[in-house]
Amino acid sequence: QRKFNAVVLGAGGVGKSALTIRFHRNVFIEQYNPTIEEQGEPVLTFSVKLELLDTPGTEQFTALNERYLRASLVPFIFSRTGEGFYSLIEESSLREIDSIRQQIYQIKGTDRDIPIVIVGTKLDLNNEREVSRAKIQELARQWNLPFYETSAKRNWHVEDVFQDLVRQMRKR
Ligand code: GDP
Ligand code: MG
Repeated sequence: QRKFNAVVLGAGGVGKSALTIRFHRNVFIEQYNPTIEEQGEPVLTFSVKLELLDTPGTEQFTALNERYLRASLVPFIFSRTGEGFYSLIEESSLREIDSIRQQIYQIKGTDRDIPIVIVGTKLDLNNEREVSRAKIQELARQWNLPFYETSAKRNWHVEDVFQDLVRQMRKR
């Protein structure tokens, strides 16, 4: 059985921990300590193991994030990937995505065959959204990356994200 690791990246407060915990334990925790860095237990899913590494929410791309990404260059460490997360309800979180995306390519030294999924969070707060679906669709098209809109709270489309990610990682 193959085992994969993924890194969850994005601006602080967008819902990275909530999504990770929904995926790992299938629960929603309203207030999750933002400073802790949780490494979840590997979960059995889609006949492979996918382990997510949640990262502390920060406004900037930290040296720590960079370390996670660099780790994937070491062949015996399982393929790590960067995922860009943004909150549908905050326009500002979208800028973070583009910057993360570019830094991943820079660190990896290539923009080819790097499994990435762009994830919009808090879809249940759709009436508060600042990021229109048309806008993110257009960006995702330009970037040539898949994107999903999710709610960790309601458990909407969470599995779809990770299924897509695993599909990409298996192709490598
Ligand atoms: P992180 O900093 O990216 O890890 O963000 P958190 O997962 O800690 O979430 C930040 C805040 O957004 C918390 O108050 C969460 O309860 C809330 N949140 C996260 N996901 C959702 C969601 O899907 N729906 C709603 N309504 N709130 C969410
Ligand atoms: Mg967090």
